Amino acid sequence: MTTRRELMEPGWNLDNSYARLPEIFYTRLEPAPVRSPELIVLNEPLAASLGLNAEALRSESGVEVFAGNRIPEGASPLAQAYAGHQFGHFTMLGDGRALLLGEQLTPQGSRVDIQLKGSGRTPYSRRGDGRAALGPMLREYIISEAMHALGIPTTRSLAVAATGESILRESEQPGAVLTRVAASHLRVGTFQYAANWGTVEDLRTLADYALQRHFPDAEDGQNRYLSLLQEVIKRQAPLIAKWQLVGFIHGVMNTDNMAISGETIDYGPCAFMDAYDPATVFSSIDTQGRYAYGNQPGIAGWNLARLAEALLPLLHEDEEQAISLAEEALAGFSEQYRSHWLTGMRAKLGISNEEPEDEALIEDLLQQMQTHQADFTNTFRALTFDKAGDTALSGSPKFAQWLERWQARRGRQEESKDASHQLMRRSNPSVIPRNHRVEAALEAAVDHGDYRVMEQLLAVLSDPFAHTAEQEDYCTVPEPSGRPYRTYCGT
Ligand code: AMP
Ligand code: MG
Repeated sequence: MTTRRELMEPGWNLDNSYARLPEIFYTRLEPAPVRSPELIVLNEPLAASLGLNAEALRSESGVEVFAGNRIPEGASPLAQAYAGHQFGHFTMLGDGRALLLGEQLTPQGSRVDIQLKGSGRTPYSRRGDGRAALGPMLREYIISEAMHALGIPTTRSLAVAATGESILRESEQPGAVLTRVAASHLRVGTFQYAANWGTVEDLRTLADYALQRHFPDAEDGQNRYLSLLQEVIKRQAPLIAKWQLVGFIHGVMNTDNMAISGETIDYGPCAFMDAYDPATVFSSIDTQGRYAYGNQPGIAGWNLARLAEALLPLLHEDEEQAISLAEEALAGFSEQYRSHWLTGMRAKLGISNEEPEDEALIEDLLQQMQTHQADFTNTFRALTFDKAGDTALSGSPKFAQWLERWQARRGRQEESKDASHQLMRRSNPSVIPRNHRVEAALEAAVDHGDYRVMEQLLAVLSDPFAHTAEQEDYCTVPEPSGRPYRTYCGT
């Protein structure tokens, strides 16, 4: 018989393997307590999959953990050290407002980081206050969960707790702490840090740790550090392709924001594209468009080259040979990316076999979408449901020709028409976290303490391929406004 007490155990089962790395990789530190913790949102399905008890997490002591006022059993909190290229400029960074509590060992046998974001100042805070505002933390919660539901590898959001304290941004904002779950927080920038501030042995220890944690099968390779680079490339290629296929713009692809695990990380100024345009940028500080939608694959390749550089001393004792091994591995990235993207685009068009002309078919559609400022998500959704007449392209003779070409192409495969339609349904979401919807949810929550708009949005986003009648309403594009949508970092 289970007793009431056992039922109320939160279920924390934490290990601290990162804390066993050499000390240069972190600073041990406890979160700074806050005035009055209040649970705003808890991700119950995620909690259950981590072996955590939602009821216990909602209790007073449970919520104190999410606010940083109580250290869960087995935790060994620390701020991670890392470096990174920010908009191309190399600098020392580190967790300025985050703490790793430990690694939860889940009932399925996996190990995931539990991190508090907004938990107070650290030695890496520089001029920052170590805190986070409620709006941006809820924004990360909504978008990361939407990404997960879209089938895109990502860090997850377990909870957001309000702190009962206000913080100063452009105006006074309610403070909050996000609890983030990640395969790990090892970044390209962690390796850059080791290469620049550590010894070769530190770098090797970090690489061994990453291999063991994320790529245990690659360990027996002849050159295990080359395998590490190849495996990271192998995960980034499909990840970036998936971003492109749903119109996700990360917004701040600095090397400290690229996870070795292949998960999307750091939901600062990210946003989804409405009208198709490769030059789309939302981030207020990305004035040069370095991280524009169309540049993301190239930037990912650039970041991976920085990882390769950091790993050079491990790749070969002879530097020239190390460089040539790195170059060979890096050359694979654009090829792999292109192949994932093509397969994904074919699926969006209901095509499951390959023809050499497919690229031209796809590029022609995108070109026309750009010319007519067609909404990215809704155009593919309309094609899925035979409603091409509803798109911004309707009436265009060129588009009519394209549709004929496309239908003929769909006929040139073994799969039935129905199978092709099903493939499109699975590949083209009805709903994405549209900027105006996310803003409306945040405004209701932050300005009016009304969480219903957000809860509804989260529910709709949790199954983006359901194509239900309720989702229709969430497909509307925002009214054109004089002011373009803008997003912000470090909020
Ligand atoms: P991000 O834009 O979130 O990737 O952050 C870049 C760097 O700034 C990281 O080292 C963050 O930890 C740090 N940072 C961002 N916001 C704050 C803040 N409010 N206080 C201290 N550090 C911060
Ligand atoms: Mg970051």
